[in-house]
Amino acid sequence: MCDEQVICMTEQKKAVALISGGLDSMLAAKAVMEQGVHVEGINFFTGFCVEGHTHAIRKKDKDKPKRNNSLWVAEQLGIKLHIIDIIEEYKDVLINPKHGYGANMNPCLDCKIFMVNKARQWVQENGFDFIITGEVMGQRPMSQRRETMPIVAEESGADELLLRPLCAQNLPATLPEKEGWVDREKLFDFSGRSRKPQMALAEQYGFVEYSQPAGGCCFLTDEKYSRKLVDLWQARGEKDYELDDVMLLKVGRHIRPKQNFKLIVAREEGEARFMQGYKNDFINMNCASHRGPLALIDGKPSEEDLQLAGQITARYGQGRDAEQVEISIREPGKEERKIAVKPLPQNEIPKEWFV
Ligand code: SF4
Repeated sequence: MCDEQVICMTEQKKAVALISGGLDSMLAAKAVMEQGVHVEGINFFTGFCVEGHTHAIRKKDKDKPKRNNSLWVAEQLGIKLHIIDIIEEYKDVLINPKHGYGANMNPCLDCKIFMVNKARQWVQENGFDFIITGEVMGQRPMSQRRETMPIVAEESGADELLLRPLCAQNLPATLPEKEGWVDREKLFDFSGRSRKPQMALAEQYGFVEYSQPAGGCCFLTDEKYSRKLVDLWQARGEKDYELDDVMLLKVGRHIRPKQNFKLIVAREEGEARFMQGYKNDFINMNCASHRGPLALIDGKPSEEDLQLAGQITARYGQGRDAEQVEISIREPGKEERKIAVKPLPQNEIPKEWFV
């Protein structure tokens, strides 16, 4: 009897759960923990994650908690979380998605395949037994359809090691179910877009607070953000980006008067403070004679372009109705200088310039 207990303890199975910070992955991990499996979490950082960033900067989001939701979920579950930076490797997923994009620039199917594949490698390297995701059949149009869910398992190489506890009963049995590491009967058959079953399960588990992402888990599902990303690629003549680009696409008004440059104009104090951190990397300007926003200039503007950029920047300051406004220009490696401009009236800034 005693020996059996020792064997049971040494044979506790170990699973790694992909934790996005949302409710579904939280419930999926919990459902498996409830069955006595040791669970740890992985959160992949692509740079496009919504959680935390804009909420921490923008005034309109001030009521939202400034926290990393994946860490918060791990803390609620009482599990260890491994945050893995995949910024560089993710570029290829976003730039060349084999299965294409969703409604916006979200390459969800390739993204899922990539993340599950990374988790599979992690499982092998760390002596874990299987992978958990919070996917629900029919919940998302691209990566969580009946036809695409097997593609994720297959192309990631995870195959039978991939368990989706929230809809496991709608799918063929996986290795953890076949081997009896988890009891399939205690897993779920959620499907469709309704959130009610998840909310009921959250209540059952005693989770009173959880994040409710309105769209997907990243900025790539956002129409405006996607437009700015495409504009950046078009202007540069190549599909490439750095983390700084990804971050700056999240803040400010983006105004492109010409192909060779655009302005990023801060909309509020929080954004201006955030953008201050980029002053050494970009030409930047602000009104010297009146209160006004900081503007970063991305690209290669001529002197004439800087004059136009100054007129636009002046439009967003308190000198917008003045005859003349003084603009300070700072270019990396050069002395700060001032130019005088006439603010451009709003009706002379064509709509097409707003990215
Ligand atoms: S919403 Fe973003 S992070 Fe989530 S699967 Fe789609 S591309 Fe990946």
